[in-house]
Amino acid sequence: MDEHDRALCEHYGKMLGLEPGWEVSRVELSTQMMKLELGVEWVNAGAICAECGKTCTPHDLAPERRWRHLDAMGFETQIVSRSPRANCGEHEIHQMKVPWAGKHSRFTLAFEALAIKVLQACRSVKPACDLLKINWDAAPEIMKRAVKRGDERRVLDQLKAVGLDEKSFQRGQSSVSVMVDLERGAPRVLDVCDGRKKEDAIKLLKKVPEPVRGRGRGSGNGPQRAPPGHRGGGALESRGRV
Ligand SMILES: [Zn+2]
Repeated sequence: MDEHDRALCEHYGKMLGLEPGWEVSRVELSTQMMKLELGVEWVNAGAICAECGKTCTPHDLAPERRWRHLDAMGFETQIVSRSPRANCGEHEIHQMKVPWAGKHSRFTLAFEALAIKVLQACRSVKPACDLLKINWDAAPEIMKRAVKRGDERRVLDQLKAVGLDEKSFQRGQSSVSVMVDLERGAPRVLDVCDGRKKEDAIKLLKKVPEPVRGRGRGSGNGPQRAPPGHRGGGALESRGRV
């Protein structure tokens, strides 16, 4: 790698905000396809066990994986990497976690955060997927992972207000109901379930812990869903205090 390439890789490494140990080793730009591909490598000698976090002997490299990242100046950006597999005496051979994405996701955490905002701002999933240039079936997976991350942060017991929204798929033939936290700056997805009926809304609201639901201080009517057939807007049309 010459000096120019090295500087380019460092530049993209800074843009990605890579953690120590990870470096951009390859930059491929296709101006015709408007695509940018960033090869990222683990450059430290030891590999980190995904189970216990200990530095272990690297066993080999896992097969190549790709993650869609935020577009860079309109170029659809992908991170490509083969993460090392750590040979931990206690946990056998495990693939190292990558800091930019969740375990099974094809998208980086930064892309998923953007996707959630776009999904919440759009009337239905189709235009959101078109804007994001993702397949419609990726949207519920992104939402479910956002929910899981929310659960992991144990925020449900601090909830003050939730909103219910519906998102339709396949030209309205199927829908999901989405519950969001309304009191943390931008609404954040808490949970998703299939369907858009009243019982689906109740199913979602039951996920809120009982003591939190008991802190009710709202209208007294409980959460309301939008009338059937109402597609909803970017704004959350159905609100209920818990
Ligand atoms: Zn281990």
